[in-house]
Amino acid sequence: MSGRRGTKKFLLLATVVGGAVGAYIYATRKPSLVFDSNPKDKVKAPITAPDGLDPNNFRPLTLSKINDISHNTKMFTFSFEDPKAILNLKTASCTVFKANIDGKDVIRPYTPTTRPNTQGYLEFVIKNYPQGVMSKYVHNLKKGDKLEIKGPIPKYDYQPNKFENLVLIAGGTGITPMVQIIEEVLYNSKDKTKITLLYANASVDDILLKDDLDKLAQKYPDRFKCYYTVDKLTDASQKKTWKGDTGFVTENMLKKCIPLPSKADDESLLVMVCGPPGFMKLLSGDKTPDYKQGELTGLLKKLGFTEKNAFKF
Ligand SMILES: Cc1cc2nc3c(=O)[nH]c(=O)nc-3n(C[C@H](O)[C@H](O)[C@H](O)COP(=O)(O)OP(=O)(O)OC[C@H]3O[C@@H](n4cnc5c(N)ncnc54)[C@H](O)[C@@H]3O)c2cc1C
Repeated sequence: MSGRRGTKKFLLLATVVGGAVGAYIYATRKPSLVFDSNPKDKVKAPITAPDGLDPNNFRPLTLSKINDISHNTKMFTFSFEDPKAILNLKTASCTVFKANIDGKDVIRPYTPTTRPNTQGYLEFVIKNYPQGVMSKYVHNLKKGDKLEIKGPIPKYDYQPNKFENLVLIAGGTGITPMVQIIEEVLYNSKDKTKITLLYANASVDDILLKDDLDKLAQKYPDRFKCYYTVDKLTDASQKKTWKGDTGFVTENMLKKCIPLPSKADDESLLVMVCGPPGFMKLLSGDKTPDYKQGELTGLLKKLGFTEKNAFKF
């Protein structure tokens, strides 16, 4: 009798433990939402595929999926009208959203994180700003709603092997154009460019796509290095486990983790910067009001970068 009860208990325990282990494995093996898990297997869309977007006119696209990325950031998938259509985007490009909000046309740029040949849809990683007009509007959309999108709008014409080193410095959602660049470089085995990413966020919980970025750094150890800094650590347990830096980006932090120009106008490397206005001011200075690159200022100028080897998104 007691032997049978013991067996039952054992089976129950084994089921619970087995279930928990299974759930853990499932959770830790969940595929990346943003980066291609197996880029080589991706079927290339036929060259004749129509364009999903129009760079000159807004097209209404249907919101088909919403996924959580962090506590305040979601991935939005929009379907093209023609399921055979592709994004046909040149790295790096953005798109423009338009919506009539409270009787006014609001227009904002957003960067797709989908590979250029993906058929039928495109994806965006979008943060919900508490006071944000367009970001709140998009976060309130429901599956099946339509949004006017125009593009792609080319921002930087990336060419493989043009530089030995690419330095990417991103703040918050400024990671999205960097996603395009990282994929374009790493998924092309003929491109020998090395990437160093420094990614700054307000807190550990605000870091977007950290698991995916860390996995890529493990998969491509000779081609991709990834460093993080957060303004502050919010609790004691984070203080024990956090391996990145803390505080705003500083000159010393940059000296420690990124390759620096070895001479004036060094053409072997390019630094690309993207982030909120305060971040841009600290690193590189912002673009001009008419969206030109403008003068390079800030920490990057101090460290020897010039307008020739710096790009502001
Ligand atoms: C080329 C380009 C590509 C972009 N791609 C993306 C993207 O892929 N995903 C994404 O989420 N955003 C992206 N942005 C930012 C986006 O265009 C909007 O600026 C952002 O969503 C806020 O717009 P909003 O209308 O909600 O806020 P607004 O109504 O314009 O501003 C409301 C408040 O939010 C603050 N705020 C606005 N923008 C930012 C910001 N970027 N960082 C910190 N505070 C801010 C302002 O200080 C203001 O107080 C991109 C911007 C550019 C220039």
